[in-house]
Amino acid sequence: MKKILTTHKVSLATLLSILVSVSVISTLLILAISTYHLTKESLTSTYLALNYSKVEKMSHSVDSLFISMRTHLESTADFLERREEMTDQEIHEQLELLRSSSGYFNSLSWVDEMGIIRVNSPGGIGLEGTKIISGNTKDVLDARMPMLTTPYVGPSNQLLILMSHPIFSKDGTYRGIIGGTIYLQKENALNQILDNEASDNSGSHYYVVGPNGILLFHPQSQRIGENFDEHSLVRKIEEGQSGKEIATNVIGVSMLSAYSYVPEAGWGIVQQTPYSFVENLLLVELQQLLMRALVPFLLLLLLSIFIARKLAAPFNRLGTLVNQLAEGKPILQSEKEVLKEAHWNREADLLTKSVGMAFETIERNNQQLTQSAQTDSLTGLLNRRNLDEVLSVWSEEGRLFSLLVLDIDYFKSVNDTYGHQVGDQTLKMIAETLCTVSRKNDLCFRYGGEEFVILLPDTDSLSAYNVAEKIRRKVEKTSYIPNEILTVSIGISEYLKQTDSVTELFGFADSALYTSKVEGRNQITISSN
Ligand code: GH3
Ligand code: MG
Ligand code: MG
Repeated sequence: MKKILTTHKVSLATLLSILVSVSVISTLLILAISTYHLTKESLTSTYLALNYSKVEKMSHSVDSLFISMRTHLESTADFLERREEMTDQEIHEQLELLRSSSGYFNSLSWVDEMGIIRVNSPGGIGLEGTKIISGNTKDVLDARMPMLTTPYVGPSNQLLILMSHPIFSKDGTYRGIIGGTIYLQKENALNQILDNEASDNSGSHYYVVGPNGILLFHPQSQRIGENFDEHSLVRKIEEGQSGKEIATNVIGVSMLSAYSYVPEAGWGIVQQTPYSFVENLLLVELQQLLMRALVPFLLLLLLSIFIARKLAAPFNRLGTLVNQLAEGKPILQSEKEVLKEAHWNREADLLTKSVGMAFETIERNNQQLTQSAQTDSLTGLLNRRNLDEVLSVWSEEGRLFSLLVLDIDYFKSVNDTYGHQVGDQTLKMIAETLCTVSRKNDLCFRYGGEEFVILLPDTDSLSAYNVAEKIRRKVEKTSYIPNEILTVSIGISEYLKQTDSVTELFGFADSALYTSKVEGRNQITISSN
């Protein structure tokens, strides 16, 4: 019998573990992807909104500052207009007072209509008396109206912007301008609004651009004065727009940017957070998610391995049992216990039941086969093969027993007179008589035809004679066929007393039977050997 090869197949436990792993991993993956997208969207919009609100606030502050500055300049100009009689020295003192009390400007100066710097606060840098013949200050002077310049390097060698207001005398004569400067790369009024949290640990920062895209403020002060005109956001600001978007900065880094236009100054403020910061937050979030999922995942895996083993166990045990059966190996009663077990799942129960039923059928068939191989089909007595087996066992054991050979007298005439079928029925009935009359431990065999053999264990020939006599009488008295008397002739031999050869024992019994026949039949003869 070939053994079924199953070693190269995947076990149920492995399959289930793989299934659980695949489903947990794919669930995690889906969760991770959707978390990634949702968090990315939410972080992006949060940071954009945050930046936008910051930039709006700053824009508002800067706007207010400029309005205050402008008002301040205006009232200074007004003051000068009303006090034409003031000397330059008095005006200087006045400007000095105004500048230090307001803190709006780095310097305040009066430039007369001829372009001569008449008064400059702070003084002492020798600008008074200098005539301005060209440049931004000249343009402002010529404009005769309130102005705010783009950044330029002034006579004091500072990168600055100039806010100016014209002065007219009572009769309308132009008397030049009052100008306030903001030194962009120095401590100034703007810095007090802008400098707080110029850049934080998220890498968020802002910068301020003036008209024409010139950088007016940047956390890295050395960059102030650079031209950002080409930047798409700066262009939008120049068009007076405010908004928020993901944009690449001048060096190509992706930024969550918000920008706002400052109407009073015509400037723009841009607040931006590197996109990589959001990506880093996302990564941390994902790592945490995976870490949190790891323990339940491992537990689930262990549980599934446990369940799979539990589920597979009955199939393995049934397989072993059926294999044993197929190989013809004896199966112990304890091994059959598996057929009575109840299981977790219906399929295992069903299979166990089916295998159990198959087992029962096989056992029943086997029993039937054994029985039919050992019994005579007509009479139901043990057959000759069985007789040989019993004799070989008893002779090996050296057991004492008597052998009784029995032949029906004139049986041929029964067949001839009543037919073969009646003959068969008669044989059956006589066999029954043998069974009922013989003792419990005696074994009756059909030896062949109408001849029978009875083995009487632990019985000597004399005791065997008594049994034989009972049989002879019973047959004689029984009416097997109406109005017919049937008789039997019997020969007896005794094992060990007469011989220890089974063949010889049969020979003795046969000759005793022959004697019974010869001496008139319906007789019993004990072998005299
Ligand atoms: P006797 O033994 O007294 O010498 O005479 P007998 O007529 O019985 O002679 P024998 O024992 O030689 O005859 C055997 C007969 O038994 C022959 C056959 O007709 C009959 N017989 C043998 N086996 C069967 C059987 O299975 N069924 C039937 N119906 N008859 C059988
Ligand atoms: Mg015969
Ligand atoms: Mg006969």
